[in-house]
Amino acid sequence: MIQATNLGFPRIGLHRELKWAVEGYWAGRTSEDALQETARQLRARHWQWQQEAGLDQIPSNDFSLYDHVLDTIALVGAVPERFGWKGETVDLTTYFAMARGVQEKELEARGLEGTGVPPLEMTKWFDTNYHYLVPEFHPEQRFRLASTKPIDEYLEAKALGIETRPVLLGPVSFLLLGRATVAHLDPLTLLDRLLPVYAEVLHRLKAAGARYVQMDEPCLVLDLPPGARQAYEQAYAALNRPEHPALVLTTYFGGLEENLPLALSLPVAAVHLDLVRAPEQLDSALAHLPEDRILSLGLVDGRNVWRTDLDVAASMLRRAVDALGRERVWVGPSCSLLHVPIDLDAEPELDPEIRPWMAFARQKLDEVVTLKCLVNEGEAAAGDRLEAARRARQERLTSARRIDPEVRRRLATLSPEMSRRGRPFAERYALQRTRLKLPPLPTTTIGSFPQTDELRRQRAAFRRGELSRAAYEQFLEATIAETIARQEAIGLDVLVHGEPERSDMVEYFAEQLQGFLVTQNGWVQSYGTRCVRPPILYGDVARRSPMTVRWTTFAQRCTARPVKGILTGPVTILQWSFVRDDQPRADTCRQIALALRDEVADLEAAGIAVIQIDEPALREGLPLRRRDWPAYLEWAVECFRLASCVVRDETQIHTHMCYADFEDILEAIAALDADVISIEAARSRMALLDAFRRFHYPNAIGPGVYDIHSPRVPSVEEIEALLERALEVIPAERLWVNPDCGLKTRRWAEVEPALRHMVQAAVQPRQDQ
Ligand code: GLN
Ligand code: ZN
Repeated sequence: MIQATNLGFPRIGLHRELKWAVEGYWAGRTSEDALQETARQLRARHWQWQQEAGLDQIPSNDFSLYDHVLDTIALVGAVPERFGWKGETVDLTTYFAMARGVQEKELEARGLEGTGVPPLEMTKWFDTNYHYLVPEFHPEQRFRLASTKPIDEYLEAKALGIETRPVLLGPVSFLLLGRATVAHLDPLTLLDRLLPVYAEVLHRLKAAGARYVQMDEPCLVLDLPPGARQAYEQAYAALNRPEHPALVLTTYFGGLEENLPLALSLPVAAVHLDLVRAPEQLDSALAHLPEDRILSLGLVDGRNVWRTDLDVAASMLRRAVDALGRERVWVGPSCSLLHVPIDLDAEPELDPEIRPWMAFARQKLDEVVTLKCLVNEGEAAAGDRLEAARRARQERLTSARRIDPEVRRRLATLSPEMSRRGRPFAERYALQRTRLKLPPLPTTTIGSFPQTDELRRQRAAFRRGELSRAAYEQFLEATIAETIARQEAIGLDVLVHGEPERSDMVEYFAEQLQGFLVTQNGWVQSYGTRCVRPPILYGDVARRSPMTVRWTTFAQRCTARPVKGILTGPVTILQWSFVRDDQPRADTCRQIALALRDEVADLEAAGIAVIQIDEPALREGLPLRRRDWPAYLEWAVECFRLASCVVRDETQIHTHMCYADFEDILEAIAALDADVISIEAARSRMALLDAFRRFHYPNAIGPGVYDIHSPRVPSVEEIEALLERALEVIPAERLWVNPDCGLKTRRWAEVEPALRHMVQAAVQPRQDQ
């Protein structure tokens, strides 16, 4: 019979229990035992839910206190030297030190010397919003078993009477996701040393009773680097042994494409395919699957919140059964459910018309089981659930909430002039300089200023209904007035209102735009204990009324200096939301762009002379395969221009980017044709600038000169040195001076002196002009 499987369950807990426990442990409020107890309870609850849902294969070791790649680093003992780890197994202190670094103060407290230890780098997990810690490899790298987590958690479930399928990050993906500390080292050459550790884990899992082990090899959906194919062959030839559990090779986030023959040829028991992202690969997989393999069909979308079309999914499942027989077919979500919220039942306040269109992790598991019943036993067995699913899909398809004829009409009449500025940059920029009367090397910030405890308290009180709207808005105005006064005192040239009214740069807009919903408990892990609540974009997007004009113009009335209006860009709003799956992302993005365009026009009409449209997520929207990049970049750039090009030449458009290296998309960044771009650069000591020079970036640039990720206050000399570097590459008349990113996570006590130093550092180069 077909088996119902799952690849992974969210770890954080419905009420973010894990977050509170881990942060409590960091702060010294929670003991290690209490932390481990919370973790145990969460695992038990999640296994129980999955068992009750009727799954045949439930994952274990999908849980993590911080990150599953970090768990793998600990498992194979790949702790970088700087953490001073010498033990047998990786203890919790070392584990969290790799995630968060060690501050000088902590070292002192432990009686050690030194200036602190930087954490492992963090980067995006494929095209998700989840961040993993990047393994570091050096030429003398050794591996050894340094954690028994997979075995412990398997046995923990077993003790609860639940048989599980342990999940491991496969050895080849683990190496490919890592980074060598020296240029000449290819991590894949470390495979020989790594495999014995994996063999030992598998051996122990078999001894503990595990029948199957899930080997995640998501790198198989990427353009593979040289040597990867051979590494895969070598790894799985070595790990496929009678003394190991049977291996399930899981791929997700895309199609295998040219790697399909490779994946199907590896000696494993089962292969999992993401048939949501790449349904077209089913036929070739059915045609070429070796006779002794099971095919695991990922038919329920693990990356989005919509209900599955069970009829379509069931027909794919039946095709697989017809070709392979029931014993060789499994069904599951497309990928781990880590990337979706846990339970729709925890959202009683969600719009009652839209709510039934959705499925969160628990509902998705019900869908998997329903699919299995449907194909194993027929429609009668699936009963009510199938009916309810069909009804909900039908309602979604015919709902008036999804389509807004006015938005459609507008989209149909887009013209190329709408995404073009009037004059070329140099001429516009001259006009803007006359209008704004700025000194050379103007100073500015990225938008947000510290979100104080007081601000959080007031917002919470307002949301609970304890503070009237009038009182809350009065408080915001007072905050803005004070923020403006502080910027004037610091001596900044282009001011901002400080974003006190925004809890989150995407949620703030989603709350006001037609076509979006926001959830109460729809938390998704972003990194470590950080969670986000992505808005849900279900229908045509339109602006109901101005969203930021009131606060920006209030700020402008407080000062004679120019105030920069701050908006979140269309691509970033798209990227950080769950979006509809009933039309191309590009179309959805254009709708958001048009809504923002209206906001930009209103800001300009209200006298705002500088408008910044943040696009920190531009790069992370890149498709996983290189050949798909140009098409994405084309519509992404078009959307930015659609939102921004409504203004007159005298109005200055800024954009801001961070969280990534932008070197490989400079051409697209230039094509945005923003007058000024502020871009993260301080952490890498302006390494980015070389790329800008090579590319001859044409417009104005503010490379960040103050690393806002650290509480450290940079000295005037440090900032001067960075500016000197910048001036070697960017002509003074196109150089701006600003921090790396927004300041909302910092405190005034750090921000004020840091910005004063920044302003002071601009004095000398200005005089040289
Ligand atoms: N304007 C936003 C801020 O300053 C930008 C945040 C971001 O780039 N992530 O907070
Ligand atoms: Zn930023």
